[in-house]
Amino acid sequence: MTTIQNHLPTAELQALDAAHHMHPFTHGDALAKKGARVITSAKGVFLKDSDGVEILDGMSGLWCVNLGYGRSELAEVAARQMRELPYYNTFFQTTTVPALSLAARIAELAPEGLDHVFFSSSGSEANDTNIRLVRHYWHAMGKPSKKIIISRKNGYHGSTMGGASLGGMSAMHAQGGLPIPDITHIDQPHWWAEGGDTSPEEFGLARARQLEEKIAELGEDNVAAFIAEPIQGAGGVIIPPETYWPEIQRICDAHDILLIADEVICGFGRTGEWFGSQAMNIRPDIMTFAKGVTSGYQPVGGSIVHKDVAAVVNAAGDFNHGYTYSGHPVACAVALENVRLLDEEGVLQHVRDIAAPALAEKFATLGEHPMVADPRTFGMLGGLQLSPDKDARAKFEAPVGTIGLRVRERCFANGVIMRHVGDRMIVCPPLVITPEEIDTMVERALKSIDEAYEGAKADGLFKSA
Ligand SMILES: *Cc1c(COP(=O)(O)O)cnc(C)c1O
Repeated sequence: MTTIQNHLPTAELQALDAAHHMHPFTHGDALAKKGARVITSAKGVFLKDSDGVEILDGMSGLWCVNLGYGRSELAEVAARQMRELPYYNTFFQTTTVPALSLAARIAELAPEGLDHVFFSSSGSEANDTNIRLVRHYWHAMGKPSKKIIISRKNGYHGSTMGGASLGGMSAMHAQGGLPIPDITHIDQPHWWAEGGDTSPEEFGLARARQLEEKIAELGEDNVAAFIAEPIQGAGGVIIPPETYWPEIQRICDAHDILLIADEVICGFGRTGEWFGSQAMNIRPDIMTFAKGVTSGYQPVGGSIVHKDVAAVVNAAGDFNHGYTYSGHPVACAVALENVRLLDEEGVLQHVRDIAAPALAEKFATLGEHPMVADPRTFGMLGGLQLSPDKDARAKFEAPVGTIGLRVRERCFANGVIMRHVGDRMIVCPPLVITPEEIDTMVERALKSIDEAYEGAKADGLFKSA
């Protein structure tokens, strides 16, 4: 088959998909039976499927379409760059104008000192780079025993062997013999689910101090780095207590541990700042980026490296690492244009002054529903907990995710994409979303939550564990 089969009826598209396409993070047979929804076009914050149905995309695709869909400027830049220079590598003492320009622009936007960029095509690859980079760095520093990377349970850092190992997703570790050696995990700062009787502030400190305890247990001379997302995304939009990050920063400084902030979701405006580290007031040595850097229009990822780390690596001979598409000129050109539009159209300002306050206000109203606990937002990220007894912070008796999945399916039916992580519901809309569209998103979410609630009650599932 050489052409794109977009003229076929939906059922035939679904049959072809089921017959030949293996989907990520999906039960293949279950999806084949049901048929995948075929998304055919999109504009602004709305997707359209092969039956012409419109859906409000409350997840920015997969946390990436920061600028919204249908921006022809990005298409035009890509076409122009493809005609001029569709590809050249950056391995053998060559560079390209889009790659060097994007590196320079990112260095301008990133916090003080973070001014070197190593490119990949995804967040997973960038985190693989980080594993190679920090170990190479400590080797060059004359401390080759500093190899272990500490990460967090329920963190997400990608799906390659390295990325999935850094991540703390138990369902991922259970497949394929992960994590790889010399990666270890501490607990996450998820107060609602794990905070017990402590206050959020006490809990944030306690969870941060697990890092210090882990360093002591492993020996400072064996630890290379700590990696974490400023706000956990795929783990369920978990916003840490305010005490957490300052304590993590103190510990990394005190013990000579590199701090890697995985900014794949938080970066490029999601929090109202260019990077989540700025919103959290932390000083990472390395930041991972991907997703929003191109608003998903092209695959670009990478590591933004502090000049003190880069200086050591750059002086240490060849760094034997890289990807064919590191610094891909078309992808970098699209990223540059995306950053230009985010900047010149004042999208971060829109987030800070309009969209984030509107989302915070509207999302909070979901807390009036009997099944919704702790609805919270940070910038353009929102998460809430589904609970059968929110005053007791109770979990459902039904297997984790049963009710969350029901809500997600009602959302799908009601024309809004909202994702479930277990029994948490999360949103991450395009940054350009208007207050009216936020109202629509939250109204559809509320309707879906309520339908799932009625269904759960009818089926005897509205019960605490
Ligand atoms: C999505 C994500 C990744 C992985 O990025 P891919 O482009 O899917 O490889 C890594 N870290 C975080 C925080 C992410 O959200």
